[in-house]
Amino acid sequence: MASNTHNSAPVSGVCAMCGRPITNEEARRSEYQIEKRPLCPSCNVQYANKKITSASELKNESVKVAVITLILLLSGVILYFAGLLYEEYGKTILGILLAYGAGLYALMNAPIDAGCIVETLGLLLAPLYALIAEFILWVKVSDCNDEIERAKKVIDSHVGEYNEAVASMVKVEAPAAENGSDTFSKKEVDYIVMYKDYLSDGEISEKERARLSKYAEALGISPERAAELEKQ
Ligand SMILES: [Zn+2]
Repeated sequence: MASNTHNSAPVSGVCAMCGRPITNEEARRSEYQIEKRPLCPSCNVQYANKKITSASELKNESVKVAVITLILLLSGVILYFAGLLYEEYGKTILGILLAYGAGLYALMNAPIDAGCIVETLGLLLAPLYALIAEFILWVKVSDCNDEIERAKKVIDSHVGEYNEAVASMVKVEAPAAENGSDTFSKKEVDYIVMYKDYLSDGEISEKERARLSKYAEALGISPERAAELEKQ
């Protein structure tokens, strides 16, 4: 299959993801690398989309854990001091338990990969750990936002070439139209591109098949329609 036939720039290698030849200029412009090898413009866009999905998931999870930790910790601290103030020591004890609960919750849901000593300390100083986790989680959220911004920029700067590649792929490989099903929605084209990508090594593995099904579901494409699209 020809890649960008209009492009006569020297070819410097192949895309690390789909194996299509890429030019020096495309290699230079590749924001993402896989094992230090550049990607073609289309794969940059696909990779950026995957980055957005994974960073968004991580971000949502981090926000959830951070908010729950904060609520537990704050209610613990408030109860603790309220108990002291009104000499209702049941509340004080409950406050301590809540603060420790906050730390344990953070420890279980936001491990900081710092080794078992830190985590053991975390158990002893659970409320403190909750505070540290709070900080780490919000840094993580900010990192996710950066990752998403970066991916969006990649999509913006490569999307023209991506659409061009997809259009030529569908045009070249789509057989003569039957029942007017020769037009594809943007999502269907995305599915076809992903399928072709997986097929580029000759076959669809079980793992790839599972991912494709998941992807189709996410795009709102029925299994019947997906099978149809794969024949394109
Ligand atoms: Zn590629």
